[in-house]
Amino acid sequence: MTIYALATAPGRAAIAVVRVSGPAAAAALIALAGPLPAPRTAALRQLRDVDGQPIDQALVLWFPAPASETGEDMAEFQVHGGRAVVEAVLRALGAIPGLRPAEPGEFARRAFANGKLDLTAAEGLADLVAAETDAQRRQALHQLEGGLAHLYDGWRRTLIDLSARLEAAIDFPDEGLPTDLTAGVARSIDDLAVQVRAHLDDGRRGERLREGFHVAIIGRPNVGKSSLLNRLARREAAIVAPEPGTTRDVIEVSLDLDGLPVTVADTAGVRDAGGAVEREGMRRARRTADQADLKILIGDSEHIGTGAPDLGFAPDERTIVAINKCDLARPGPSPGAAWYPISCVTDEGIDALVRAVTDRLRSQAWQGGGPVLTRARHRAELEATLAALDRAASGTAPELVAEDLRLAARCLGRITGRVDVEDVLDRLFAEFCIGK
Ligand code: GDP
Repeated sequence: MTIYALATAPGRAAIAVVRVSGPAAAAALIALAGPLPAPRTAALRQLRDVDGQPIDQALVLWFPAPASETGEDMAEFQVHGGRAVVEAVLRALGAIPGLRPAEPGEFARRAFANGKLDLTAAEGLADLVAAETDAQRRQALHQLEGGLAHLYDGWRRTLIDLSARLEAAIDFPDEGLPTDLTAGVARSIDDLAVQVRAHLDDGRRGERLREGFHVAIIGRPNVGKSSLLNRLARREAAIVAPEPGTTRDVIEVSLDLDGLPVTVADTAGVRDAGGAVEREGMRRARRTADQADLKILIGDSEHIGTGAPDLGFAPDERTIVAINKCDLARPGPSPGAAWYPISCVTDEGIDALVRAVTDRLRSQAWQGGGPVLTRARHRAELEATLAALDRAASGTAPELVAEDLRLAARCLGRITGRVDVEDVLDRLFAEFCIGK
């Protein structure tokens, strides 16, 4: 079946792109725009509907299989981006036998089926379309360009090669397994296990960057948590009020901190008094803080005496302490790790605090260089790979070792989609929008 869809965002725009993919793409192009133009060369044409009525002037492109994005014959119409124009083009295409509207992600799925993309590249494509910050874009592009596929396919080839060597030896049992062979295989398994373990033990850098970081602003009531959030968001996102306990729920704003996607949550102040609603707010505050990648713990400079102040939370290694209202009183030196004097009124120290937060998060994010896994799906398969490698490393019966190596190769193959992955395909491609 040949599919068609609007590839650009719906709504009014200067240009809209409609794509067609499948065996009837050439017939569709000819029906609307006349003879096929030279492959991959734009031609200016008058588009006409089935009755010969003009629809629009358009740039028309013809991509014969297999050198197209999906690997099938493809036609592309770049029309004026008005709703009526797009609808007329889609209507005209719908009237052609053998054509139907595409499902979400169907173009990418066909590209995968035709070997144009492996699964990690398809995921990279989905992430690239969804990327909101520069660092996310770079990571998605790296994955689309095969950063992960190259690594996993390399490991998989090594495993297939090792199990083949073992099996060849097993096939001649009379001769016994040569010890240099088993020793060589064991060394290679150990090497690979070290590499997979190091790759897994990455502090979830890729996943964090893909999903975005969570920062919680915590501290006692009235220290200026909402004021800081507003200052960060540069808008009135949270209610700032002089009475304690105004922030009863968790309020979040999304920020782009130097390319890093960050969600900052303002939490209810922690204090002992308070009604049921406020207690629920505090429960949520603690939960948000527990799950955060980083906490900004705020103290009030007026309440800081000498010695270690009680800020309501014990700072841990995921905490940055900021002492607010330093326009009212100067906090002395910190008794522990450095703290950041700030004022949400005069803006003093805010830039330094934001820099500290950004630096801390950046050290937890992918920063280019080696490939990094970006999804729980990759992590689960890699953990299974490592478990099989560990079993293989401690195994003595060559048949069982070979079996574990095959299993490990299979897990890696599932990440890139080289082996049975029907079950993940529907879920994965449903993430795409129609026309991708
Ligand atoms: P929260 O309960 O921790 O969210 O605190 P709010 O942000 O609601 O602030 C409590 C009060 O402190 C409000 O009256 C703010 O105007 C005031 N406040 C916040 N930051 C500063 C600051 O840096 N300097 C001064 N002088 N007042 C501040």
